[in-house]
Amino acid sequence: MELTRLKGIGQTTADKLHTLGIDDVIDMLFHLPLRYEDKTCITAIADLTGFGHAQVEGEIVKSYVTQGRRPILVVEVADESAVMQLKFFNFYYSQKIKMRAGLRIRAYGEVKHGMYGMEIIHPEFSLGEKQPALAKSLTPVYPKSEGISQKLLQKAAAQTVQMLQQGELALRELLPTEWLAQQGMPGLREALMFVHQPPAGADVMKLLNQSHPAQQRLKIEEILAHFLAMHQARTAVQQSAAPELPINQQQNQLLLSQLPFELTAAQQRVVQEIQADMSRGFPMQRLVQGDVGSGKTVVAALAMQAGLVHGKQVVMMAPTEILAEQHLVTLKEYFKDKQVVFLSGKIKGKARVDVLAQIAGEADVIIGTHALFQPDVIYRDLALVIIDEQHRFGVHQRLMLKEKGQNNTTLPHSLIMTATPIPRTLAQIAYANLDVSVIDELPPNRKVINTVLLDNHKIQPLAERIRNACKNGEQAYWVCTLIEESEHMRAKAAQDTYEALQQQFPDLTVGLVHGRLKSDDKQAVMDAFKANEIQLLVATTVIEVGVDVPNASLMVIENAERLGLSQLHQLRGRVGRGNRQSHCVLVYQAPLSENAQVRLQTMRETNDGFIIAQKDLQLRGPGEILGTRQKGSMEFRFSDPEQDAQLFEQAKQMAAELLQANPEVCDQIIERWEKQAKTLAKV
Ligand code: ADP
Ligand code: MG
Repeated sequence: MELTRLKGIGQTTADKLHTLGIDDVIDMLFHLPLRYEDKTCITAIADLTGFGHAQVEGEIVKSYVTQGRRPILVVEVADESAVMQLKFFNFYYSQKIKMRAGLRIRAYGEVKHGMYGMEIIHPEFSLGEKQPALAKSLTPVYPKSEGISQKLLQKAAAQTVQMLQQGELALRELLPTEWLAQQGMPGLREALMFVHQPPAGADVMKLLNQSHPAQQRLKIEEILAHFLAMHQARTAVQQSAAPELPINQQQNQLLLSQLPFELTAAQQRVVQEIQADMSRGFPMQRLVQGDVGSGKTVVAALAMQAGLVHGKQVVMMAPTEILAEQHLVTLKEYFKDKQVVFLSGKIKGKARVDVLAQIAGEADVIIGTHALFQPDVIYRDLALVIIDEQHRFGVHQRLMLKEKGQNNTTLPHSLIMTATPIPRTLAQIAYANLDVSVIDELPPNRKVINTVLLDNHKIQPLAERIRNACKNGEQAYWVCTLIEESEHMRAKAAQDTYEALQQQFPDLTVGLVHGRLKSDDKQAVMDAFKANEIQLLVATTVIEVGVDVPNASLMVIENAERLGLSQLHQLRGRVGRGNRQSHCVLVYQAPLSENAQVRLQTMRETNDGFIIAQKDLQLRGPGEILGTRQKGSMEFRFSDPEQDAQLFEQAKQMAAELLQANPEVCDQIIERWEKQAKTLAKV
């Protein structure tokens, strides 16, 4: 039903509501309050506790404007029990005139202890002898957007609730009633009416922390829709065809024999899982999870091999140019007799035209950044899409690359690699449509990185340490971390540090890499570092992901307190890649916030990416961990993967049961929540 059918909503407002994702009356119903105000009663002034919000009513005793640099309008109000003050820092002169002594006033706001008894700053208020009737239910406060007033949202929502009540809206109950009864959850109609208009006396605490059964009822359907959509997407892909690529043991061995190491048991297991997937006639959808340094690149190469022996093309996308270029070097080495090409945003003009021709032609292995999925990149015969460090990409980029390989008859296999070990609960949700392999073992002889914290006023001894390490044939990173500023500022700061360190270490070769360097220069610096021609590399966080220089064994991270745990862990993962004992010095600026203290301590105490991820989840919440870079992928409207972990478990089970028992209802649930589930279903 169209929004304009609601009283007070014309086309202009309807258009504004569209921007909130509210397209029709049913959407309005699913636009839930953020919080509630209790205006169902009046509190006597003497009973005010000085905490929380309250509504009072009384007579204005006097009102005046304080003298001083910032005038304040003070209105003293008395009821039978006591006197209190209402204060306005921003007010109009006309407002002052209206606040006449003797008038009745009703005010609502956050009550605090003031200098002269209780006070409310900037209350909502209404003046006049005849005050409106008290609210019968808690007043919902909706998430709003520019140009739409709270009043309007409240009115519109109230109308939709009324329509629902009167049976004017078609809203079917889709969850089995016995099940709901078992869980002590209300039906959908009841739940919606309750959350929009909680009756006086409703459990406000529960409502506020989103754990009321009525809210849970809505959440569980949302989560259910998510799991069902993921299942549907997965089934759809499984029903399409993919090239069968059975492995050729001989070729496999050939590649393995070139490696200077043996695969770990975990790598072997994962490679087998991948190759088994690829030998079947439908698309692989596999996620490989492995901590930094667990050796994912070679696993990717073995997956590629399966495609290459059949004359197919394989593509690998990395989130940064530095990482993509490093993969290029590694893979050229592995696949000497294949044509390995590179494409990133910095390749332009004639060079780009040439690469595109190769991709449409005889190229076998294609490496690059997100430039790989631009519309004019056309592949000859793409059979495998690998995405490295997938957590750095948005959902849509991942999707577009997959669509690239789609020709009339087949989809490519896809392999997604991630170093951020996502806590189990989150992984289940984010990757419900993927098979998951875990590389749960590091290559042998890795020594635990020794991490120390250092106050930035006491970094004197660091110089000696860097010098010793470098004289010893080792190499070091010096990471400059200015996070707020622009790339330009970052580059400048790194440049300054670079110059200072050059002065300080005339006996060492110091290098510099940052995001503003030209592609070739960046590459030259990284090559020189890899060849140990540069001993101390000053870098911005451009080296955060993937960079692999096993001889580097010392890392200094400036302003470590500003970085998040995952980022610190990724950065630190640049050392400890060889057999040497590695060190990581986290330089911080005191005083540390409590949160920063926990982060740095965690880094000191553990090298385990899994534990770090758990901690990160606790500190930042799931939205941040998956959300920032994958907007739209993990954005549940109502549910919270951590807080509602139990609901997620329940929903998962229920999804399995419903798929068996009632596939039609499954489709309807997905459809109802499609707005939320659409993005997800395609991942
Ligand atoms: P990830 O991408 O998982 O962080 P890489 O693939 O970059 O890790 O591998 C890290 C380093 O470990 C590389 O130098 C790689 O050559 C090396 N490596 C990988 N597998 C093994 C292994 N089984 N034994 C010894 N070294 C290995
Ligand atoms: Mg890697």
